[in-house]
Amino acid sequence: MECATIGNLWLSSFLISSPSTLSCSRRALVSRDACTASLCSKTHKSFPSPLRCRALDSPSTAANLSSDSDLVERTSRKLNVAGPISKDVDWPSPDDEIPFWKRNFPYSDANLLVRSNVVKDSDTLHIIHITAEMAPIAKVGGLADVVTGLARACLSRGHTVDIMLPFYECIQKEQISELTLITSYDSFHDGKWVSTNAYHGTVTGIPVIFIEPSNHFFKGQSVYGGSYDEMEAYLFFSRACLEWMQAAFVQPDIIHVHEWQASAVPLLYWDMYHHLSLRKPRITLTIHNMEHYGECRQEQLSKCGLDGSVYATEDKAVDDRTIGHNPERLSLLKGGIVYSNAVVTVSPTYLKETLCSGWLASTLIKCHDKYIGILNGIDYAVWNPTTDIFLPAKFNAKNLEGKRLCKYYLQKGLGLDLKGEETINRNDDVIDASVKVPMVVCITRLVAQKGLHLIIHAIKHVEELGGQMIVLGKAPDRRVENEFKHLADLLNQGPNVRILLMYSEELSHMVYAAADIVLVPSMYEPCGLSQMIGMRYGAVPIVRKTGGLADTVFDIDDQSNQEMANGFVFEGIDERSLSWALDRAFYHYRENPDEWAGMVRKVMEIDNSWNNTAGKYIDVYNSVRVR
Ligand code: ADP
Repeated sequence: MECATIGNLWLSSFLISSPSTLSCSRRALVSRDACTASLCSKTHKSFPSPLRCRALDSPSTAANLSSDSDLVERTSRKLNVAGPISKDVDWPSPDDEIPFWKRNFPYSDANLLVRSNVVKDSDTLHIIHITAEMAPIAKVGGLADVVTGLARACLSRGHTVDIMLPFYECIQKEQISELTLITSYDSFHDGKWVSTNAYHGTVTGIPVIFIEPSNHFFKGQSVYGGSYDEMEAYLFFSRACLEWMQAAFVQPDIIHVHEWQASAVPLLYWDMYHHLSLRKPRITLTIHNMEHYGECRQEQLSKCGLDGSVYATEDKAVDDRTIGHNPERLSLLKGGIVYSNAVVTVSPTYLKETLCSGWLASTLIKCHDKYIGILNGIDYAVWNPTTDIFLPAKFNAKNLEGKRLCKYYLQKGLGLDLKGEETINRNDDVIDASVKVPMVVCITRLVAQKGLHLIIHAIKHVEELGGQMIVLGKAPDRRVENEFKHLADLLNQGPNVRILLMYSEELSHMVYAAADIVLVPSMYEPCGLSQMIGMRYGAVPIVRKTGGLADTVFDIDDQSNQEMANGFVFEGIDERSLSWALDRAFYHYRENPDEWAGMVRKVMEIDNSWNNTAGKYIDVYNSVRVR
């Protein structure tokens, strides 16, 4: 089947159902009104439409944003850091009872509002994201940042945007404003209708609909890895989102699904709900990481009410590598690619890589007309060193005094050697600019993709070079965790290395702000946000040339591209290649401090915000919407 053939023609696949699914399918098809009526006979508070968030439109707050320098000045004055560093700073120590990154931060002061001073699009859309992650309340990696950042950028441009998220038990309800039950309804799973609640709330200014089933799905203390079948839970969630739209009479222009977790939505939409009441939406899929393709057994897919066996064909959702095996497996991501109206991946280079390698390449090649690479942005409302509530001092490209304080603060807090101490004039506590110890940081999920052997090599090599290194990472795999624990036990008592095996949003902000160099030595990297966030906070990146890293970092020593030059790039996956990049970075840092300071300013001024790229998503949405 051609990729472009989406929709009505595929009704047949929905009708050929197994007995158990047939009853559900018939129920859904035949008694659409009855079904909807039964859903609506349960609680359905009127859906606040359009769900708009607070806009940053008061003259005073808008003015606040008008000048980053003003902000730095004002916050600096408050903290007494723009000039001499105040003795009032509450310096941290490794012996603190409450670690400095767990102190009470003024979360309510966080300036995370949707900006209304952005030029509005004249032709607006209603977009609903369906996702397994959202920053900051359900964040594991970049997916969460991207969903929140893109949603905020589109809201700022005048579009109506909602995010649909599982109501994970681990979500802290205090982080949600105005949480309200809006709909109680039933959604289908494994031959039964499961009573389900939909809540509406606002998270950092963004409207979110939380889906909460009454069964055990999404219970546990983390986003992933609960004691339930993850595949079945996300299949349930995918259907429950569409069921909710039907129950609440909501028909967005675009349903934007992310990753394999939401990739059953396009199948369910075109083969089921489009034949019920949802006519208007068109589907965009973003693939954030092709490695996770949603391996799914046919009977698992059947549990959401589709007939799994119908999708086990090459032109639909079969995992091509299993053809001829018994049983053949499905890939939800492949099904999502085939069934979506537009497919986006997160950088132009990753797009090329995925067309050339990997088992999904043939599907992507067939779908090349609707496949596009759009570089991610970062959310400048969250990642902003002039307003960041987690930093002991604010700074910007024109006033880097606060950055020096952030580095000193982190060194003190983690008990690192204060090699800059001798340059501090103890009388007025001024930190001298000539601190010669580069701080290299790596903030990452500790998984094979991220170049674990290179991270370990960097730790050793940075120490040999006389620098300091902080790794902030969480390892989902016990073996990897043990390996890094062992290293941490060896090195964390020493003066120059800290390996912090945890996830902490607060600490990550402080580490980026303290960093001179941010290291991203990935084996492959669809886009990578860490290098962009690092640059925003004045850290010069060292990256391996792959995926989105190749689209965002350009080598300083490449004489043919001095205009774009903003970091250090290496190509090999071996330790020597990385050493070469680190050696060059240390040389520049120590031998050319003025040039380095210029580089810090330059990387801070690069615009990697969503404002820059959200427009490309709007173009994609417009290219598939129906009026
Ligand atoms: P990926 O999506 O593959 O995890 P990205 O670079 O795209 O990688 O995004 C990673 C995001 O997760 C960044 O915001 C980074 O700061 C954050 N992050 C990764 N590990 C940690 C950690 N241990 N603590 C806090 N934030 C982390």
